[in-house]
Amino acid sequence: MNGFFRGFAGAASSLLLVDYDGTLAPFRVDRFKAAPWAGVRELLSLIQDQKKTRLEVISGRPAHEVMRLLDMKTPPGVWGLHGAERLHPDGRREFEPIAHPTRAHLEAVSARLRSDAFGGLFEEKPNAAVVHWRGAAPRKAREIEKRARELFEPLAQRDGLQLLEFECGLELRAGRDKGGAVKAILDELDANGAAKVPAAYLGDDITDEAAFAAMKGRGLSVLVRRERRKTNADVWLRPPRELRAFLCRWLEAAS
Ligand SMILES: [Mg+2]
Repeated sequence: MNGFFRGFAGAASSLLLVDYDGTLAPFRVDRFKAAPWAGVRELLSLIQDQKKTRLEVISGRPAHEVMRLLDMKTPPGVWGLHGAERLHPDGRREFEPIAHPTRAHLEAVSARLRSDAFGGLFEEKPNAAVVHWRGAAPRKAREIEKRARELFEPLAQRDGLQLLEFECGLELRAGRDKGGAVKAILDELDANGAAKVPAAYLGDDITDEAAFAAMKGRGLSVLVRRERRKTNADVWLRPPRELRAFLCRWLEAAS
């Protein structure tokens, strides 16, 4: 990490890529109450005010939810739906188009889950059907997962659909993943001649591993999590204290 922050010396700009849930904010069973950890919004705002860092949030949520929960004076770029949606700081919004057979499969699965989500929580996204079991007792969680797999697996790998596993949930989805979003951002930087700027990606979940892999050779990848686990990330921070310390250090290095 010392080497990474030394790289800020003489750099005109930097790139900070962050996941939202579990990384900037603690989990809540009610997802709409997941506000950032104390001090995190303020530190990100100070980083934005320096105008030295491009801040992009890459989340599994629809982008507008992240924008509302973050509630920052200067909005960051937000990639929603794990990267299939992009909400620019100026409000412009882009969606990856979904082909007809894929859409039809998703609609059929969603109709099935709307009436019965196996005791879990069903979330319908424009590009995905999601079953959550956060907060369920272990035995119940295993049962929900088993039944969600039985429903999703025959469709995964067909017509552009993939199965995405995350902590306490399973998603059947189409479109770019977080690794694809990171790659798109890095390609934009390359096109603007800013390939060498210090860059980091912070995330907590299994879905962030694709983003960590996309950062290889390009920047620092950071696992933000209470417990350690097997990961592609370069370093591990325990939130919220070590996350705040990291952001303070960023602020100092970029000043
Ligand atoms: Mg997360």
